[in-house]
Amino acid sequence: MEQTLVIVKPDAVARRLIGEVIRRCEAEGLVVRGLKMVALSQREAEGFYHVHRQQPFFGSLTSFMASGPCIAMVLEGEGAIRRVRDIMGATDPLKAEQGTLRRSFATSIERNVVHGSDSAESAAFEIPYFFSRVELL
Ligand code: UDP
Ligand code: MG
Repeated sequence: MEQTLVIVKPDAVARRLIGEVIRRCEAEGLVVRGLKMVALSQREAEGFYHVHRQQPFFGSLTSFMASGPCIAMVLEGEGAIRRVRDIMGATDPLKAEQGTLRRSFATSIERNVVHGSDSAESAAFEIPYFFSRVELL
């Protein structure tokens, strides 16, 4: 069984979309193995997104991610990484398919509601960034 890290981003928490994100993932058969609300510091957001540190959007992205509480979750299922990416849709909501979370709810390419690990390698870094062994059930 594959695990992936999902974050309900601050825009979606503020807009009361936590339940909607979880509902769509559970409806696709994914199982919640860990879940918590977190308030990232600027430095913690920078550490999480360190692969993007050279990107022009890095400063804005990380201050957005530190601007309010997030929900972090570990979801499990066969092909969970790919399946969550499909539920999310493309990074840019204008390019995301109809019915995806980002197409439905994102307000910009930055404020795009949800994060999901993009590979097994990313998931292996991202899951322990938020969850210790005893928090994954
Ligand atoms: N992002 C942005 N501007 C861009 C590309 C990305 O603000 O031009 C933000 C957006 O919030 C995105 C995050 O940076 O979700 C991480 O970018 P990535 O390319 O990894 O997209 P994702 O994997 O989240 O679809
Ligand atoms: Mg990514």
